[in-house]
Amino acid sequence: MQVTVTQSQTRKPKPDETNLGFGTIFTDHMFNMDYSVEKGWHNPRIEPYGPMALDPSTMVLHYGQAVFEGLKAYRMDQGGIQLFRPLDNFKRLNRSSKMLCIAGHDAAFALDALKQLLTLEKDWVPSQPGTSLYIRPTIVATDPYLGVRASFTYRFFIILSPVGAYYPEGFNPIKIMVSKDHVRAVRGGVGEAKTPGNYAASLLAGDKAHDEGYTQVLWLDGVEQKYVEEVGSMNIFFVIDDEIITPMLSGSILAGITRNSVIQLAEHWGMNVTERKISIDEVMQAQASGKLTEIFGSGTAAVVSPVGELKYGDQVIPIGDGSVGPVAQRLFDAIQDIQYGKIEDPMGWIEPVI
Ligand SMILES: *Cc1c(COP(=O)(O)O)cnc(C)c1O
Repeated sequence: MQVTVTQSQTRKPKPDETNLGFGTIFTDHMFNMDYSVEKGWHNPRIEPYGPMALDPSTMVLHYGQAVFEGLKAYRMDQGGIQLFRPLDNFKRLNRSSKMLCIAGHDAAFALDALKQLLTLEKDWVPSQPGTSLYIRPTIVATDPYLGVRASFTYRFFIILSPVGAYYPEGFNPIKIMVSKDHVRAVRGGVGEAKTPGNYAASLLAGDKAHDEGYTQVLWLDGVEQKYVEEVGSMNIFFVIDDEIITPMLSGSILAGITRNSVIQLAEHWGMNVTERKISIDEVMQAQASGKLTEIFGSGTAAVVSPVGELKYGDQVIPIGDGSVGPVAQRLFDAIQDIQYGKIEDPMGWIEPVI
């Protein structure tokens, strides 16, 4: 399949790179592709960025049959642009699609189309430290129909948004609160999929945490509310007695690409990494006995997000000495340096664009 290109007649002014924020500015072009049962995926095209006309009965608006991804393009000091493990994002998009009964796509083709879009939009990749071009591939159900079933037609699109550094005021620990009233997902559900409903379902707990002065929710498992799952929309790691522990993928946890990168790098450095169940009681006990030295989240947006304080019921505990721990710092520096091409990529994670 050939991607047809229709260039925009106008170009937007480029934003101020020192004040990008997240997810509010979009580039001049986007990628679109359609699916029907008869034709499969067809009409891949790059065209001007703009609103989509949707019939009010469009299935995705009613039943949320949709999946998405999030990754970034990074500008190197020498000017080139590169991606970090992008094929893994399209493979995960396919895994998510399967869970939502959405038609699968050719991940290698999608990556190629993304690279064509990025080549056209290369001037939109910012170059200030910590900035990047955020990439949002999305697939939505497009049948105009109110019955509950899988759609027969889909739209696959990719939009691009220049984003600022995640830590404009420095790499500081966040405060997190364990949710006792709400759960994010259960085994057998769609917690493993990047699908909009999971995020809609997390908003109320997030609001409650914010009201109490906490940045993110620490989610426990949906069955016993005993085992740690994720933090906000990041995976989570604990450093206890020099062991780096992350909850094993259980069916309700999103398999983060950053999570996998943290595990691989730490093992590459000879650290002791374990994927297993970890209960909130174990975390609280490890903190009480002084063995819990670090907690940090992992995700594309932040790379690594250290946790400085945790609230569980009435207990509020400090993590480490309140500053960024050495494991989180080393992982953050190494992953970021690989993403921006500042150091040799020891793991084969980099995909050059231009
Ligand atoms: C996207 C996401 C993550 C992190 O995944 P990365 O591939 O590392 O960006 C973790 N948890 C949830 C719920 C997510 O949506």
